[in-house]
Amino acid sequence: MTEKKVICTVCPKGCRITVVLDGNNVDNINGNLCVRGKKYATDEATEPRRVLTTTVRTDNTMLSVRSTASLKKDKISDYMKIINAVKVSAPISIGDVIIENIDGEGTDIIATKNLI
Ligand code: SF4
Repeated sequence: MTEKKVICTVCPKGCRITVVLDGNNVDNINGNLCVRGKKYATDEATEPRRVLTTTVRTDNTMLSVRSTASLKKDKISDYMKIINAVKVSAPISIGDVIIENIDGEGTDIIATKNLI
């Protein structure tokens, strides 16, 4: 058994949740005040994910981008290598797909500002 401490970020209460794991299976959770925190802590302890916000190169500046869904945290450095190899040119509009299906699960990297 291993124990992971998680601070829930779903609401401002910031409950400190303890997740007891048997391998990668949840054996017990305590400290959460609601079921949303239970799901958050389970995901965070077994497969943490993050929405990725970063930039890609353009001809003369950087363009801000983000992932359309959360990505597996332990794969983010791999995705950054892909993103860092990309260079885009104007015109680009907010929401344009810069990299399609970066994770093989349907998550795209999209522009978060216009480039004219
Ligand atoms: S466990 Fe529930 S009450 Fe506590 S921080 Fe998370 S969402 Fe808020």
